[in-house]
Amino acid sequence: MSTDSNTAWNTGTSTARHDGEHWLLSLVVPVKNEEDNIQPFLDAVLETLTPRVPALEIIFIDDGSTDQTLPMLRRLGTADQRIRYLSFSRNFGKEAAMTAGLEASRGDAVVPMDVDLQHPPEAVLEFIRHWRDGGWDMVYGVRMDANAETTGKKATSSLFYRIFNRVSHTDIPPSAGDFRLLSRRVVDVLGQLPERNRFMKGLYAWVGFRSIGVPYHQPARLHGNSRFNYWKLWNFALDGLVGFSSLPLRVWSYLGGGLAFCSLLFMLWIITRTLLFGIETPGYASVMSAILFFGGVQLLSIGVLGEYIARLFIESKQRPLYIIAEHSDDQA
Ligand code: UDP
Ligand code: MG
Repeated sequence: MSTDSNTAWNTGTSTARHDGEHWLLSLVVPVKNEEDNIQPFLDAVLETLTPRVPALEIIFIDDGSTDQTLPMLRRLGTADQRIRYLSFSRNFGKEAAMTAGLEASRGDAVVPMDVDLQHPPEAVLEFIRHWRDGGWDMVYGVRMDANAETTGKKATSSLFYRIFNRVSHTDIPPSAGDFRLLSRRVVDVLGQLPERNRFMKGLYAWVGFRSIGVPYHQPARLHGNSRFNYWKLWNFALDGLVGFSSLPLRVWSYLGGGLAFCSLLFMLWIITRTLLFGIETPGYASVMSAILFFGGVQLLSIGVLGEYIARLFIESKQRPLYIIAEHSDDQA
């Protein structure tokens, strides 16, 4: 299917305001090989939310699943009007899936959720209360993890947020994830951001609006293992840093300046010493360490340049963020 039809499907506009009793809640749920989790997720969500929400739509984004996920979504989509799905032509990653879901959503409030029940539906009720009664545009869940994550993952993620908040002008609240409620206007603004590098947590913070954190307890994954290993998380962190800070680029001018200044002092000292005491045996060690050190610094700084240029390259190609192969409105 061409990207044409995917834009046609993106009717993410809502005319209703949420002041009345008639408002629509959209759940945006990216799924990749989650055949075991979808039904329990639906049961839990419908049981908790149906009595409290006037209208509900659940949008599943099949992110290139190879198991029974898609046939299951097809079945659910025909059986229940509230369930919509779209299916990517391949795996585009969770960030792309969330972007697609947000664009497809029609709700007055939109909540991106994981399907593995690590995001408890009860917390959504709490989000809704803050949005309806407090008028908050963004209500983000703050993870109170008992033992859902390994200590290694917790430590590395807290280190990442510390560095991120230092080097970028956008502050991300630590322990906040994708689980949050976004008002319609936040969703609309997010949809206008053109970048291909979708570091959603950064984008949520970047758009601003009145935001409040609400704590929730995150249980362990229901079935299967996390789709994110350390290598993926590292690349994710790189995307986040490079997408939201130019400090890694600029730091080299300062470092270079400092090193040049030190070298100048060293040069003056060597010249003076040679003039005063004559030529000494040339120092292998100092030459060697200078070569190795500067070689390392140069390679590192070229690498940093490369990270940014690679992203410029990706942005400049202007390829779509995702390609939809099939969606629930096909069947209607
Ligand atoms: N997911 C996705 N595409 C991917 C990887 C994950 O849509 O390439 C979905 C996955 O099906 C789940 C959610 O993203 O609904 C979170 O994934 P997971 O539980 O593996 O991540 P973690 O909880 O470890 O952050
Ligand atoms: Mg999970």
